[in-house]
Amino acid sequence: MNVADLTCRELVQLVTDYLEGVLPAAERDRFERHIASCRGCAAYLQQMRALVRTSGRIAIGSVPPGPPPELLRAFAAWKRDDRRRGRAGRWRPIDRRSR
Ligand SMILES: [Zn+2]
Repeated sequence: MNVADLTCRELVQLVTDYLEGVLPAAERDRFERHIASCRGCAAYLQQMRALVRTSGRIAIGSVPPGPPPELLRAFAAWKRDDRRRGRAGRWRPIDRRSR
């Protein structure tokens, strides 16, 4: 088995950067060579991609500090609608601690 010079452990640590597209070209090259020759890591990458698709964020540990802007825009729109219909106050912001 030829897995270039990147170990599986290193690959797991790099997968977030890889999916975010922030991996330097040389690292990305090693990453992709490893993926091409290691079935286990190829499967892992596939799982991570699926996770990103379903959760809408990259990975545990790199969660953005606040709600995504499109969500805030949606909240603001609901708030505007409520105010127009005269029932402002029914909408409450989500408590971030109980996420
Ligand atoms: Zn591997």
